[in-house]
Amino acid sequence: MGKDRLAEVLVEWEAVIGLEIHTELTSLKTKMFCGCPVAFGGEVNTRVCPVCLGLPGALPVPNEKAIESTILAGLALHCGIARDAQFHRKNYFYPDMPKDYQISQYDVPFCIGGHMDVELDGSPAEQRVVREGVLSDEGDAGYTTRIGITRIHLEEDTGKMIHVGGSEGRIAGATHSLVDFNRAGTALMELVSEPDIRTPEEARRFAQKLRLVFLSLAVSDCNMEEGSMRVDANVSVRPRGQEELGVKAEVKNMNSFKALHDALAFEIVRQVELLEAGGTVVQETRHWDVGAKRTSSLRSKEEAHDYRYFPEPDMVPFTFDDAYVERMRERLPELPDARKARIAERYGLPAHDARILGEDRDLEAFYAEAVEDAGIEFAKPLANWVLGELSAQLNAEGIPAWGSNVTPRKLARIVQLVADGTISGKQAKEVFAEIVLTDERPLQVVDRLGMKQVSDVSELEAIVDRVLAANAAQVEQYRAGKAGLIGFFVGAVMRETQGQANPAVVNEVLGRRLAP
Ligand code: ADP
Ligand code: ZN
Ligand code: MG
Repeated sequence: MGKDRLAEVLVEWEAVIGLEIHTELTSLKTKMFCGCPVAFGGEVNTRVCPVCLGLPGALPVPNEKAIESTILAGLALHCGIARDAQFHRKNYFYPDMPKDYQISQYDVPFCIGGHMDVELDGSPAEQRVVREGVLSDEGDAGYTTRIGITRIHLEEDTGKMIHVGGSEGRIAGATHSLVDFNRAGTALMELVSEPDIRTPEEARRFAQKLRLVFLSLAVSDCNMEEGSMRVDANVSVRPRGQEELGVKAEVKNMNSFKALHDALAFEIVRQVELLEAGGTVVQETRHWDVGAKRTSSLRSKEEAHDYRYFPEPDMVPFTFDDAYVERMRERLPELPDARKARIAERYGLPAHDARILGEDRDLEAFYAEAVEDAGIEFAKPLANWVLGELSAQLNAEGIPAWGSNVTPRKLARIVQLVADGTISGKQAKEVFAEIVLTDERPLQVVDRLGMKQVSDVSELEAIVDRVLAANAAQVEQYRAGKAGLIGFFVGAVMRETQGQANPAVVNEVLGRRLAP
């Protein structure tokens, strides 16, 4: 299913998406209610104790840092912090959950009612399917949309089932299942968004920005592949103009941002095609199969679970006073929006450049050093280099900013060599490519390749005079009004200089010499 099909269906139909995002608080040293260490992988069932195994008589002790992390997340996302909150027991049976209930939060979560602004700038073509379903030609101008956050609460993670005996990792064909409780009881923060998201790209940007916020807060490594950030997507469609929400499906098992995007794109088209064919969407949980690139039904949600929530009797409710909340607020670090604003302001960059630079601390530091070296007047050309050629090289080679042969100092030299007319913009790209391979200094490359640009005015005046004298007839015609001949003269001067003349100077000299 191509992107175009999605764009097509979104003209008449509107998608409605709400995300539920579970984030393991991996930066904590210990689990949510016991002292067992938090780590990924390791030998099975080695990081367990009576509390996280749910043995009779074991009592939970809440992890203060986990609660702080959740409140910091809430403050960063403009949520209200509950003055009184408590944990509830959510009762259900699943073999990877040793207590047969999960300690979670119900009607009084720590954080309620926030929002996050998501920028859809620097867009791929698909973003042009804007919320109004209009294929705009100005898609690249982008837009910003505010996504409501319903709540953020804290709970404990489950263990992991390992299905064995059949084909690797599959339930189908497995002869039996084993369970690893190492992850059981790890602090898990759940964020629920309002159904404010309208396109798969908005969903992807929301999740990516949330990750950046959580990384800034240092609450989690947000590794989607290792499952420390897990995004479930609720999605429905409705005819444009209809107020009432359609029946939603919940899609699970996306372990990358691309998978989140692709799963939603598939699911939207599936629902629209189903409805257009006279069918109905059923409320169910669907599974994204990344290989087959499709969602398939996992279980129907017909019989709603009754979790029989009740207040966790082994823990007293929490009370947070204003002083506590303010102390937490003071601990907030610089967040992505503030970082973007600071970079845009400091270097006079467009929002898009500032956002991308702000998303990568290494890249930002690299850029800052290059500007420091070259001078603030080179801020924009340096941003173009860093976000263009340099990022392309870093992505292609999978290396961090400081891993390239191109250093901030070398990049500063390159933009200066262009600015002072030593080399052309095109030659600068060649110099860059050479440095990537050879680690030379820009001037070494310029010398070795015999690159130079003739910018000397008197030298170029002499050449222009020779060219004009040899083409008297064309000069005549030009002066008589045939302005298009300017290209002919520029071309002739370029031939005379083997392409090394500085075009700006040539144009300036020609303009003066040809004036009547
Ligand atoms: P449930 O009772 O099935 O858990 P909730 O109302 O708690 O549903 O919402 C769960 C998530 O689904 C939230 O992120 C919410 O924004 C989203 N959501 C709710 N209704 C719809 C809908 N009709 N279409 C798409 N998303 C929805
Ligand atoms: Zn434990
Ligand atoms: Mg719900």
